[in-house]
Amino acid sequence: MIKSISQFLAVVISFTFVSVSNAQVDIFPEPANDNNPVHTGDCIPQSEMAAIAKNFKQFSNIANREFCNDDSQTWHLLSSLMFMRQTKFAETMTPSEDELFSGKFAHGWYDYFVGRINKLEIVSNCQKGVIAYVYMWGNTMYTCPMALTNSFSSLDRASVMMHEARHIDGFPHITCSKGARQGLQGACDDRISKGGSYAVTVETYAQLSKYAEGIHPALKAYAKSSAIVYADEAFEIPVKIHRAEKLLALTNTQDFHSMDMETKEIKTLGKAPALGHIVRRGQHMILFPEDKTLKAGYVFSHDEGGLEQSPSDMVTDYNAQTPEEKAKLIDLHIGAQWSARVYGDSVKFLCDPRSPSETTLSLPNGLTASSLVYPEGYARDKYSVVLSTVSGDLLEVGCANKRAYVKASSVVLDQPYKRIQKAGGVVLGLTATGDLFQIEQGRSTPVTTDLQGTIVDITPQESFRFFE
Ligand SMILES: [Zn+2]
Repeated sequence: MIKSISQFLAVVISFTFVSVSNAQVDIFPEPANDNNPVHTGDCIPQSEMAAIAKNFKQFSNIANREFCNDDSQTWHLLSSLMFMRQTKFAETMTPSEDELFSGKFAHGWYDYFVGRINKLEIVSNCQKGVIAYVYMWGNTMYTCPMALTNSFSSLDRASVMMHEARHIDGFPHITCSKGARQGLQGACDDRISKGGSYAVTVETYAQLSKYAEGIHPALKAYAKSSAIVYADEAFEIPVKIHRAEKLLALTNTQDFHSMDMETKEIKTLGKAPALGHIVRRGQHMILFPEDKTLKAGYVFSHDEGGLEQSPSDMVTDYNAQTPEEKAKLIDLHIGAQWSARVYGDSVKFLCDPRSPSETTLSLPNGLTASSLVYPEGYARDKYSVVLSTVSGDLLEVGCANKRAYVKASSVVLDQPYKRIQKAGGVVLGLTATGDLFQIEQGRSTPVTTDLQGTIVDITPQESFRFFE
């Protein structure tokens, strides 16, 4: 009996990120700088080609020569296989004390994959957002064109391929009944300890971040955030993760600092590539520079460097705009299944992860937007955010039953804020003059620190014991 197709990871990648985009799906452009240590020279030697063709007969006709990066679909398939073949990990990979990394899938990725998949087929008519899928009775992995471009990294593809291979062992997905992916078909597994395909996704990203050797620090940081996003969002039973949260502050000297919420102790971290506004996409941070001639992109706080890869189609579109056009985007919220782009007098919503259709709503009463604030904290599974306006009026913007709305907010504040974030259970407000306040029941109390007057943005930042 033919059973369901498992297109899940693919679908989920789409659902995870599509909310920021009006195009097909989120993309992970391959870093233009040489972040990928595996394919130095960008050619696969003939010996490797021959070895791969032993497992994948489809490459037999090109197994007698080296294969160099020609940006073809074949190249992207081969380079992902090479990533699995050649990425080196620490000799000892100790499991985490929590549920992030059991090590169950730690060894021999390539052997694991070829034990289940022996054919890679490229399909052109993929459903929106799908990047790869398998039929659980088969040994073919179907790959969609969007995964086979420079906009997707070998690291991501290797994780996807391991995920798909796991389906062959008899692990389908279920519809999420709660959380960030509530209602999304095939976007959840029951619990991570069962070791299904999403467990493989979490484990592969966690392993790459913690134990891979020779991987660029920014890619490692990216893999860490990806592991946590899947752990937090793709399981019905919450994954146990030892974690702590601080406030991350960006100051006008382009320095990142963290602030402990209990002791208010400040620690200097790394440099930012530019001043600007940090927008969260789950664990990922995207910096929108103040200098509109610069590109928005992933940002990391501990001097990991940058990634050329674009965080999403929406960011790619933004980066293609003129500085004047870019300046019109005032703020951006990225939820798990929706997004809101804030302009001066309107908000553009994407409320349905399965549809590219956008809704633009004007702000009422001639109000002008100033920024999004998070008095209850940034949460991927919530469907509304508070929009602060130039006049100080607060609005609630969001999606209800996939319909966009703007209405007066019930939040009351005693003074205007440029940002409000919650970190470690504490609500903090940042004023336009760079001062911090603690906010309790709408009342503000100054928080005095050495950074007073210098902070340009704040956002919560978690740390995880396994990655420390
Ligand atoms: Zn899947």
